[in-house]
Amino acid sequence: MSEFTLRGQDQALSLLRAAIASGHVGHAYLFHGPAGVGKTRAALLFARALLCERPVAGGESCGTCASCAAVLGLRHPDLEFLVPLPTFRAEGRTERQAEEARSEARAVVMRRFATEPLFTPVFTRPPVHSVEDLARAKQFLSFTAQREGGAKVLIVKGAEAITGPAAHAFLKILEEPQPRRVLILGARQPRALLPTIASRCLLVRFRPLPTAVIAEALASRGVSKPVARLIAATSQGSLGRALGFLEAPLDSAVREAPGEADFTKLRAAATELFVRPKSAAVLGPLRRARIERDRGRFLTVVSLAAYYYRDVLRRKLIGKDAPLAHADLERDIDADARALPVSDVTARIRILDEIASAVQSNVTAAYAVAAAQYRMGLGPDGARAGARPRAGAAHA
Ligand SMILES: [Zn+2]
Repeated sequence: MSEFTLRGQDQALSLLRAAIASGHVGHAYLFHGPAGVGKTRAALLFARALLCERPVAGGESCGTCASCAAVLGLRHPDLEFLVPLPTFRAEGRTERQAEEARSEARAVVMRRFATEPLFTPVFTRPPVHSVEDLARAKQFLSFTAQREGGAKVLIVKGAEAITGPAAHAFLKILEEPQPRRVLILGARQPRALLPTIASRCLLVRFRPLPTAVIAEALASRGVSKPVARLIAATSQGSLGRALGFLEAPLDSAVREAPGEADFTKLRAAATELFVRPKSAAVLGPLRRARIERDRGRFLTVVSLAAYYYRDVLRRKLIGKDAPLAHADLERDIDADARALPVSDVTARIRILDEIASAVQSNVTAAYAVAAAQYRMGLGPDGARAGARPRAGAAHA
C-alpha cells in the first residue's frame, strides 16, 4: 500500500497495513467514521493492495501495474463498488424512468469517486441499497477472479442504507464467507447498522478531520477564507458534510451548486431568526433563505445559530483565547457574552436543539421559529441578542 497516506487516519491505515503484511486479511471490514474523512479512499487503497499484480515487500501495492490503475479508476473486474441511491420513484416517473434516473445518478457518482477521493454525494431523499444491486454483488463474488487464485473485493458504501429485503440479501453474502473474497463496508456509525451485519465485521475507525484540514480543503476549492473557516468549524470534522453545503443534490431538479454565497445566506438567516430578529414576521427571512420547505437547509440554519451561542458561551467561559466558529462576528459575540448570563446562553442552545428535533418530526419551520423566538425572549424591540436587560445579568 505505497502512497497509502491519508491525513489524520494513521491508526486505521496501520491496522490495514498490518493485515496485508501478515497475510491475515479478514472476510468483512466495517470502516466507520464521518462522511468525507477518507473511508472510501482507504477502501480503494486496501483493495489495490489486495489486487496488485506485483506487490512489493510487505504486500504493499506497486502502484504502477495495470491492476493498480484500474482499481483507483473503479474499473477493475475483481472490484465491485456499491453506492446507495434514492429510488427516484417520486415526481410522476414510471418504474422504468425511475430506474433510468437511478443508473444515470450511479454513473455520475462513480465518475466523481474515481476522480475526487473525498467526494460525498448529496441527495434530497434518503438513499437506499436495492435488492437488485445486492443480488448483482452476490453474483460478482461467486465468479472466479480474473487472475488465477486472485482476490475479489466488494466495497459497500453507506452500509446503514442496507435495510428491508436488501438486508436479507446482504446477510446471505456475509454468512457464507468464500476464500479470497473481501467485503469492505463504510458507515458513519456501527450502531446505525443492523446488529446482525455489524457483528460480523472487523471494525476500523476513521477519525473526524481537524478543522484546519477541512478549511484548507475548502479554500483550495476557491471558497473564501472566512467562509471556509466557518463551514469547517460547523461541519463536525466531516469534509463530506462541509462540501455538502456547496454541492447541488444529485436528485434535485436544481443543477446549480449552492456555493459559498448560498451558505452566507443561510448564516444571515441564522442570525436574523435566532440572534437578532429585525421584525416579528418570520416568514420573510424563511423565504429569502429558501428554508421554509426545505428541512435540510432549515436544520443547517438552526445548527449555525447553535454554534453562534456556543461561541458566546466559549467567550464567557474561556475568554479571549477561545477560537470561534463565527470568527467574523467576534464583536457581536463579545457583546452577547457580556450581556447574557450563562444560564440564558445554555437555555438558548437547548431550545435550538429542541426545535431541530421538532422539525425532524414534522413541525413546520415557521412554527418552530416563532416558538423558539418566544422561548428565547427574542423580539424586534431589542437590538442586541440580550434583548431583555436583566439586573445583574452581566455578573451571572
Ligand atoms: Zn500493482
